[in-house]
Amino acid sequence: MTAASGRILTCMALDPPRTLSPSKVSAFTNCPLAFRYSQIEHRPEPPSPPAVKGTLVHSALEGLFWHHVPGQRTPAAAAAELERSWDELQDDDEFVQLELGPESADAFLADARTLVDNYFRLEDPNEAHAVGIELGVETLVDGMRLRGIIDRLDVAPDGSLIVVDYKTGRAPSERFERGSMGGVQTYALLCESLLGRAPAEVRLLYLRQPIAISSVATEQSIRGQRKRALAVWTAIERACGTEDFRPHVGPLCDYCGFKSSCPAFAA
Ligand code: SF4
Repeated sequence: MTAASGRILTCMALDPPRTLSPSKVSAFTNCPLAFRYSQIEHRPEPPSPPAVKGTLVHSALEGLFWHHVPGQRTPAAAAAELERSWDELQDDDEFVQLELGPESADAFLADARTLVDNYFRLEDPNEAHAVGIELGVETLVDGMRLRGIIDRLDVAPDGSLIVVDYKTGRAPSERFERGSMGGVQTYALLCESLLGRAPAEVRLLYLRQPIAISSVATEQSIRGQRKRALAVWTAIERACGTEDFRPHVGPLCDYCGFKSSCPAFAA
């Protein structure tokens, strides 16, 4: 008689996604049905101006760190990086699909400039010792394949790691603050699994207000995030097995690209 170990592969009605990322965790938690449409059925979603603007601002800040050494990371350098990213964006499919007229495009760029300027009110990039920019990480944790892109990984003067995430949307109210940290805590979990040590701090930089929200990654918070990610992964697998993805009606429905085909809004 032989013994086997590992997970038993079951035949599912729908294929779950290959990996779990912080954005997939929040997408499934926000609305399982919208998650099914985008992540399982891969239905096309119209691009949204806030998401495309987020890409533009991330690209400018990425360029600020890639192309400028400490001492040269000035607001003028960031503004030049934003102009470079803006030129590149003109050929981007998602940007083209937004079909912005000249006035809307000007307003779009002006708002992106404000966000980049606001960044300098949150930190001095010349003080940051970045060791990773737009760092793609993927690892196997408890049978789940976790993946994510860390906006910036810094080393603090005492040698500890800091995960930094730029946000171009509004900061959550205190009530929802813990939920928004969940995604970044997943990066802490990824860091620990991949590099063998957890970051001492995870920091969200909300460029709109601007406001920085920090949290210390402890063994307990990482263990909690591991459990939460596993619970979400199990729920996704279960939903795929039963093809049961319920709509979750809420404020986010106003921004949902699937609203016209959502049974919760059927006439
Ligand atoms: S409209 Fe609302 S309930 Fe329907 S899929 Fe979108 S987020 Fe979910």
